[in-house]
Amino acid sequence: MTMFKGIDYYDIESELSQEARLVRDTARAFVEREFLPSIREHYRAGTFPLELVPRMGALGMFGANLSGYGLPAIDNISYGLLMQELERGDSGLRSFASVQGALVMYPILTFGSEAQKQRWLPLLASGRAIGCFGLTEHDHGSDPAGMTTRAVKRGNGYLLSGVKMWITNGAVADLALVWAKLDGEIRGFLVERGTPGFTANEVVGKLSLRASVTAELVLDEAFVPEENLLPDAVGLKSALKCLNQARYGIVWGALGAAMACFDEVLVHSAERMVFGRPLAAFQLTQAKLADMLTEITKGQLLALQLGRLKELGKMRPEQVSLAKRNNVRMALETARTARGILGAVGISDEYQSMRHMCNLESVDTYEGTYEIHTLALGRDLTGIDAIS
Ligand SMILES: Cc1cc2nc3c(=O)[nH]c(=O)nc-3n(C[C@H](O)[C@H](O)[C@H](O)COP(=O)(O)OP(=O)(O)OC[C@H]3O[C@@H](n4cnc5c(N)ncnc54)[C@H](O)[C@@H]3O)c2cc1C
Repeated sequence: MTMFKGIDYYDIESELSQEARLVRDTARAFVEREFLPSIREHYRAGTFPLELVPRMGALGMFGANLSGYGLPAIDNISYGLLMQELERGDSGLRSFASVQGALVMYPILTFGSEAQKQRWLPLLASGRAIGCFGLTEHDHGSDPAGMTTRAVKRGNGYLLSGVKMWITNGAVADLALVWAKLDGEIRGFLVERGTPGFTANEVVGKLSLRASVTAELVLDEAFVPEENLLPDAVGLKSALKCLNQARYGIVWGALGAAMACFDEVLVHSAERMVFGRPLAAFQLTQAKLADMLTEITKGQLLALQLGRLKELGKMRPEQVSLAKRNNVRMALETARTARGILGAVGISDEYQSMRHMCNLESVDTYEGTYEIHTLALGRDLTGIDAIS
């Protein structure tokens, strides 16, 4: 197998630090050698390659842009490239790392007590513990403020009751960060596996993100000790701050999925003969390739500048909305076009474009749907809230 070379029409390479190149190349080699050989089987079986989790931990792939407590503290462009390479493998792989780092480690680091940080960050960073983030409910996805999961003070802790849905890593997690209302205010609770009254049911029958574990979390008066409440996570804005971190990773990750599809059809269209000529010799195919490359390049420049703003501490949530909305939809369109160029073989899992296409349907929906990010931009532009 020849190693993936990346798509770089505008010499973005020259903008990258040594560290960024090293992070990207390490992740690329990991995906190529250790992940891609088994993705087809995992996708068919609907399983995530859990055996790779300690290895990813050893490579510093969890919470890589976080600092303190022995965390890698790489810069945000390097982190973005890491997400890009993981999603070049599969959106499920990037989702795993996003949840672990941006949605579990980041909130513990940002809102947690010293004891919570000391205990959980090394475990999560190394992959010895897996985390999940429980915000969405069956009836409250785009509107998490309407959540019905409740915490009630009881003795030296809290009783949590409610049901969370569509929770990535939920059925394999050692630790669930569950968002629940305490006296009407949204708070974050660390719920440990094995807590009486807490169960996780794996969601089956998914046609998207099949190589990712998704679960329903059921809390039936599950007792959570006082010390497991995140002291500084108060209100929905705390949960949204975590999502903003994760969305930043998605902006780059989507590029990886789009690159995988483009790379696949660039090779295929040169080899596939139709009407006695290579498919790539036809103008309609060339137009498709030119459009794909143009959109990927625009998405790369968007991600790069967003990363620079994040480095400077100037990244606004609406700027993340713009880039998440654009890059994921762009990747989805790229994957659909690639699937078409492949013809019939494009529906076979011998090829990857359709797997990426199916995955990207989820990525377009989670972490704020395309529509919700559209309305977030509309609100920012006009000052008028059209979401609720
Ligand atoms: C594979 C997968 C993994 C996930 N992982 C997690 C996880 O780890 N943790 C977690 O908490 N959640 C997770 N989610 C949930 C995800 O964040 C939600 O699915 C998402 O927020 C959308 O909510 P919903 O599915 O209830 O859709 P709904 O809110 O019911 O929306 C349905 C449709 O209505 C549109 N819509 C909603 N409101 C408006 C409006 N005001 N105006 C116009 N259109 C609107 C939406 O854009 C969408 O097209 C995951 C989802 C998937 C599919």
